[in-house]
Amino acid sequence: MFGNGEQSPLTRRRFLGWSQGLMAAVSAAPWMSARAETEPEHPAENEDYYDKLGIDKIINAAGTYTYLTAAVMPPEVQRAVAKAALHPVVLKDLQKASGEYLAKKLRCEAALVSSGASAALTLATAACVASANNLKPEQIPQEVGGMKNEVIVQKAHRYEYDHAMQLCGVRIVEVVTVEDYRNAFTRKTVMTNFFNAAEAGEIDRKTWLNIAHQHGVPCHLDAAADMPPVENLWKYTEMGFDLVCFSGGKGIRGPQNAGLLLGRKKLIDLAVQNDNPNSDAVGRGMKVAKEQIVGMVAAVDWLLSRDEAADQAEYRRRADVIAAAVKNVPTMKSEIFVPEIANHVPHLILAYDPAVVGISPTEVQKKLQAEKPRIELNPATGSTGRLGTHSNENTIVVGTWMLQPGEAEIVGRRLREVLTHPRA
Ligand SMILES: *Cc1c(COP(=O)(O)O)cnc(C)c1O
Repeated sequence: MFGNGEQSPLTRRRFLGWSQGLMAAVSAAPWMSARAETEPEHPAENEDYYDKLGIDKIINAAGTYTYLTAAVMPPEVQRAVAKAALHPVVLKDLQKASGEYLAKKLRCEAALVSSGASAALTLATAACVASANNLKPEQIPQEVGGMKNEVIVQKAHRYEYDHAMQLCGVRIVEVVTVEDYRNAFTRKTVMTNFFNAAEAGEIDRKTWLNIAHQHGVPCHLDAAADMPPVENLWKYTEMGFDLVCFSGGKGIRGPQNAGLLLGRKKLIDLAVQNDNPNSDAVGRGMKVAKEQIVGMVAAVDWLLSRDEAADQAEYRRRADVIAAAVKNVPTMKSEIFVPEIANHVPHLILAYDPAVVGISPTEVQKKLQAEKPRIELNPATGSTGRLGTHSNENTIVVGTWMLQPGEAEIVGRRLREVLTHPRA
């Protein structure tokens, strides 16, 4: 064939011309899949399924949002995923080995790769329910109603992901004050949940944890989007949280359908029992394919190798590029804001008077979405309450950390055009 590696004797154009019909026929041959990672001119690379499906590739000036497919995996992780795709393995062996590897790297007793933070929360709940009631996976959720089934949560920590716990048949008990909290423990309490990035709530992490442990109840902490800093991956388990979940596809930059559940061996073992490939289990539909398990491990390795200060400086540089592009827009003021817990990276806030400029932030957002390439601004744009006091109806918010090389310049230019010629 073409020889190994990068040195194909054919130029890209000749290869393409030659390939159309013939390669379609031979691409199903088994040797082709083994070549995929080393052969840059493999015809499969010329087939862009986004184009084929009519899907726009976006410029992500928002951040690691689920609805925008979260992060793009770094090349190291993409390569690990592609390589894992080449061979079958025994799924349970891979789950076990990846969990042990991650637990060691992340300084906790045990770990499991879930299909995301939401699935990790479901498996954490299943583990706590199973532990409190000595239940088998096949009994969850249908037998949980009549058993120990209460999860304590601060009222200010109620969120959409409560659903992930309720999948296990539990009931959520809301508390506000420390006194409420002490009184909420009953013989039916199985677990507590702490939403790490919640901006409100009277009870701090340490108090929350101590009181639960006085009652012998395990605590789960949801830190899904709380990366960076990297030390969060061990900070909360070392603080004493029995279980901690992270999203794999957000700041960790692994596959979007992967996540981590970290914590106590006994509980992680129960989470594993309630997970696939076991079929009669709440986690059966939360499968993580071999590619994504490997991708998750590779993403953690990648993350641990990063110079975080350099990454943060780069996100700031991009914010500066965009701010400089719009600095002559009348009334424009720019600010860089770093959220405290979740999405702890520089965000550019552009505040201006829409009455003077002639276009509102939400109109700018819509215009950029309608263009090619489609640009997605941070969803806090034009709205109050999503970034504390830092955004309102007169601000554009740009998340710069998911921009790819050269895109900050494009975003700056497009923003300047729209803000200076709003009716063009
Ligand atoms: C994103 C997020 C999740 C869900 O994460 P997935 O990995 O997409 O399942 C759960 N909790 C919080 C707080 C999140 O931000």
